[in-house]
Amino acid sequence: MTHEETAVLNSNILEQTAFKQITYQKPERLKKEPIDSVISSKTIYLTFDDGPSYLTNQILDILKEKEVAATFFVVGSNLDTYKDVVKRAYISGHTIALHTNTHRYNEIYASLDAYINDLNTLKYRVKSIIKETPRIVRLPGGSSNTISRKYKEGIITEVTNYLNDNHYYYFDWNIDSLDASGKVSKEVIYNSVVNNLKVGNNIVLMHDTNTKQTTVEALPMIIDYAKANGYTFARLTKYTPVYHHHINN
Ligand SMILES: [Zn+2]
Repeated sequence: MTHEETAVLNSNILEQTAFKQITYQKPERLKKEPIDSVISSKTIYLTFDDGPSYLTNQILDILKEKEVAATFFVVGSNLDTYKDVVKRAYISGHTIALHTNTHRYNEIYASLDAYINDLNTLKYRVKSIIKETPRIVRLPGGSSNTISRKYKEGIITEVTNYLNDNHYYYFDWNIDSLDASGKVSKEVIYNSVVNNLKVGNNIVLMHDTNTKQTTVEALPMIIDYAKANGYTFARLTKYTPVYHHHINN
């Protein structure tokens, strides 16, 4: 074996070790039963924003049945009502990630301090449930949103610099399920996702709120299509290559 081959072999072993650590990371107190999080050349990261909600348990049932890992970008104001659901999602091996404590654009985008306060409040609330510090973040509206400009010009640049400098990993999406708008049929959601899947990382934006029944209905259809077409599913971690929109503030 040449030096080069040995180096490649070693880096493969390293990668596999790193992968094991990602998948089977155990927190101090909560016992986790991780489900498959398989990274391949065709990977789907299902992400659910704005939960937990009345429907989260149904989402978790589907993910469990299909053995698929996902990521939940939670909102702090829902945590008291659905604390057990968050715990269940975490123990099942999904990523609990930070969206916002209040989801009030006029407050969180008023200044960098206001954003940091909101983020920290949510971070400590989540940590008190899962006993681990969450590091994965999604900005309300995504990093390309132009609404924030109304409250403070340039705020997204400030916020993303802060996140990058403070060991957070923020993720936008490259597939929109279109389930954010009012009443969307499960067919529209299904088609919006499966027609846009491609080789590489597919980060799918979905929503987990009390009214998103059609998202829940589309979910098993999306998973079945993806599996039949050679895609694997994984959760976002700090090892996932970040995907960012263009900042437009
Ligand atoms: Zn949101």
